[in-house]
Amino acid sequence: MASVQPTTKHTAVAEVNAPSSTSFDYDVAIVGGGIVGATLAAALKDTNLRVVVIEAQPRSVAVAKGQAYAIHLSSSRIYQGIGVWEAIAPQVEYFSQVHLSDGNCPSVVKFKPRDLGTPVLGYVAEHRVLLKELLQFLETCEHVDWCCPAQVTTTHYHPHGVEVQLAPSSAGVEAAHRHEVESLPQTLNVRMLVAADGSRSQVRQQAGITTQGWDYWQSCLVATIAPEKFHNHIAYERFWPSGPFAILPIANRQCRIVWTAPHAQAQALLELEEDQFLDLLQQRYGSQMGKLSLVGHRFLFPAKWMHSTQYTGHRLALVGDAAHTCHPVGGQGLNLGIRDAAALAQVLHVAHQAGQDIGSVQVLRQYQRWRRRQNWLALGFTDILNRVFSNRWFLVVQGRRLGLRILQWIAPLRILALRFMAGLSGRLPNLAQPK
Ligand SMILES: Cc1cc2nc3c(=O)[nH]c(=O)nc-3n(C[C@H](O)[C@H](O)[C@H](O)COP(=O)(O)OP(=O)(O)OC[C@H]3O[C@@H](n4cnc5c(N)ncnc54)[C@H](O)[C@@H]3O)c2cc1C
Repeated sequence: MASVQPTTKHTAVAEVNAPSSTSFDYDVAIVGGGIVGATLAAALKDTNLRVVVIEAQPRSVAVAKGQAYAIHLSSSRIYQGIGVWEAIAPQVEYFSQVHLSDGNCPSVVKFKPRDLGTPVLGYVAEHRVLLKELLQFLETCEHVDWCCPAQVTTTHYHPHGVEVQLAPSSAGVEAAHRHEVESLPQTLNVRMLVAADGSRSQVRQQAGITTQGWDYWQSCLVATIAPEKFHNHIAYERFWPSGPFAILPIANRQCRIVWTAPHAQAQALLELEEDQFLDLLQQRYGSQMGKLSLVGHRFLFPAKWMHSTQYTGHRLALVGDAAHTCHPVGGQGLNLGIRDAAALAQVLHVAHQAGQDIGSVQVLRQYQRWRRRQNWLALGFTDILNRVFSNRWFLVVQGRRLGLRILQWIAPLRILALRFMAGLSGRLPNLAQPK
């Protein structure tokens, strides 16, 4: 792995203004206080490392995002290990079955808890629940400060640390923690930086780390539905030539739908009158849950695939969407980010205990080796799944339907697929080990 080399400007600053190894404001600065950034801060709770999270939005705005996510068993275990799951669990819905099918083809692959030997297969959590509980948990962590709304403007990488310039903000720093930050600092000297600032990561771009990827021809329409009949804790993923259609059970007997379609079609669905939209939805949804009604607004997200060529640089690590973004099919994106956060926290903890420099290339390379290949497999899986199922080519249709039947008949294959989709295969962080 190549380190991110400081530019000429950075080198000049490094000579004049480099922080000495003992004068750091914090050990770790996490840029981006979304779910992944907040999870990393929480996972570092027992490390004695001083952590600051720099978030561009006020807390109330960051929490208020209307998204909901399928949460893998590996992610719920990570939150159990951190100690925040007890607060999250009563506010999320579980699913005990996943039904996978291809358009109108009658054969359905049914994944059940006995395939994994667990009571449930996963959960669906709303963004506001996860982030609110993580923020409340962080208030009890003495070593974490939360800087918001604040934005990183420039970063200067020195041999022993990173100098981070923050944009002044009229709202200043939210003093939500025991260690209150009285006013927004203009400059922070930190031992290392973590980019958790989403798919357009400014930190990644400033460090010169390149990405590979593409925009899909599809967008995802997301909405909340109140069905007449109870969802029975079943999650559905049905593939149509236009794209996957997912139904996820959420709290209050409601369901979340993720309806993928080519951009123009998805835009038209967004603009339809509610009655017309519900008619079309009923056709796609089927009659198993009776009459449907819409709760709140519909949202549209363009689907894209992106993978950073490096996860680490000189005193820098990327986590979550800053490192990778994938098609929403299979609900992988956030779960991969949660595992990144747990893995990076583990690598930093071990290095810190051993007296190593946590920002050194040798330490950070362990994180990159661990996570990049595993994420690549999951990203590849979502891409292949979407491409194989989103078409009408005769041979491909026959092949994929045969594949689904094989999954239905051969339990070991079904279990293998389920373990992969539930984030239980490959090397897991200690926090994700069964309790
Ligand atoms: C339709 C759809 C459905 C999905 N469903 C699922 C699912 O079921 N399961 C799943 O696992 N994943 C799902 N995903 C993927 C998931 O939404 C993302 O992977 C996840 O939200 C990424 O979280 P993050 O914390 O890495 O990034 P973000 O949520 O983008 O958070 C980044 C944070 O950084 C802050 N920030 C940005 N720039 C700066 C800056 N310069 N300075 C300071 N702060 C900054 C932002 O304000 C934000 O709070 C879905 C995605 C879509 C589009």
